[in-house]
Amino acid sequence: MVDKKSILSSIPSVDELIRVKELERLIALYSRTAVVEGIREYLGEYRKHVISLEKDEELNAINDSDIIKGIIEKIHNMMRSNLINVVNATGVVIHTNLGRSPLSSRLKDTLWNIASRYSNLEMDLESGERGSRYSHVEELICKLTGAEAAMVVNNNAAAVMLVLSTMAKGREVVVSRGQLVEIGGSFRVPDVMKQSGAALVEVGTTNKTHLADYENAVNENTAVLMKVHTSNYRILGFTSQVESEELAALGRKMGLPVIEDLGSGLLMDLTEYGLPYEPTVQQAVRAGMDVVTFSGDKMLGGPQAGIITGRKEYIDKMRKNPLTRAIRIDKLTLAALEGTLRLYTDKELALAEVPVLRMLTYNGEELGKRARRLGMRLKKSIGAMAAIGIEDEFSEVGGGSMPLHKMPTKVVAVKPKAVSLVGLEEKLRAYKVPVISRIVRDRLLLDVRTIMDDEFKVVESAMQWAFAELSGSISGEREVQT
Ligand SMILES: *Cc1c(COP(=O)(O)O)cnc(C)c1O
Repeated sequence: MVDKKSILSSIPSVDELIRVKELERLIALYSRTAVVEGIREYLGEYRKHVISLEKDEELNAINDSDIIKGIIEKIHNMMRSNLINVVNATGVVIHTNLGRSPLSSRLKDTLWNIASRYSNLEMDLESGERGSRYSHVEELICKLTGAEAAMVVNNNAAAVMLVLSTMAKGREVVVSRGQLVEIGGSFRVPDVMKQSGAALVEVGTTNKTHLADYENAVNENTAVLMKVHTSNYRILGFTSQVESEELAALGRKMGLPVIEDLGSGLLMDLTEYGLPYEPTVQQAVRAGMDVVTFSGDKMLGGPQAGIITGRKEYIDKMRKNPLTRAIRIDKLTLAALEGTLRLYTDKELALAEVPVLRMLTYNGEELGKRARRLGMRLKKSIGAMAAIGIEDEFSEVGGGSMPLHKMPTKVVAVKPKAVSLVGLEEKLRAYKVPVISRIVRDRLLLDVRTIMDDEFKVVESAMQWAFAELSGSISGEREVQT
């Protein structure tokens, strides 16, 4: 028979605990301050827990060797980053909530070197004078897209704002009503355009806009004609929008620059891999657009960035716009963007090494093989607790790109025998490397399109952990892992 008092009085002190070997190791790993704080917090919780116990058998079950284990878990959890990796098993390739585009692992060394050392970010090494941070990617972008000049900023929304602020501030921009879209996260094209100080002149109707609509809207205060790629929605049926070539020709005829916000920024045609047609940057440039903007982290598969290509006279003006300083691209982003663009100089290399392109172009055979691999692993480890099957499903491009396109994929479907499906989905999300999955009807689906090769074993461990937690379910226990 143990009593509360004796349990409480036998709790070791902070001074005693800090000399325990396992905790000494954590001082070396983190810091003395962190370990002391972890011990104090844990002991506080432990005392409260002991005081709350009522039954003798609960008190008997108290084992003070659990204290060290609890403290270690507490400290690891305290020190864990908030921003962590997750496994994307949703099949949505450009998943905005999960960081959009994963970068190529080929960039690893470059990124770390540029981040941890000094670099020639703004120094011309030949002259020793101040250089331009844009020079590192400009030539590459021009070579890939056929444009005359280029610059880069933080994201495509900033790119659109900079372009309009430079070319149309205090004047009018003519744009089709059917292209004034909201892109998600309540980013609305018309709002961003207004922020630039340009006045919007909407022409046409939601479903139809003709060349004459633009022409009739032009007056002495018109600065540019603009086209926005409606990346994330489609108007179907009785529709028509003006082609880039026609709009560019009208601009030339009227002496007005024509700009296009492409959104996603495809650098290669992916129709041969079964993806729907989408205009590439090269095509927009070739069509005669004076300025084209697009994202770095949508279908391009690079870092978050906004890329602006166009005629040199306009790009030069943008560089001098004070707004440029406020949306200046960071050196890490620049290193990631240059590295990604370099992969595009060889089509096969880009398809193999840019994760977004690889995931979008998997064929049925590859997906089947990957699903069988994951299915086999799961059958072995959790087959007793769930029915594991391989099924045909659909993945999405995501990121507001190609909204209507459903890519046939293979999923591993998990149907638990004794535990709840919702509970399983939650537990997988609570694992130390969270696995993000989806529930469709009575199964939990793991889409192998977006799970990376070295993550199969993580999914397996997550499943084992989740089932152990759910079946051993001592409710109220915290999910802590180290
Ligand atoms: C996504 C998108 C944007 C915004 O790009 P970010 O890189 O997310 O800032 C702007 N315009 C269009 C048409 C888009 O699809």
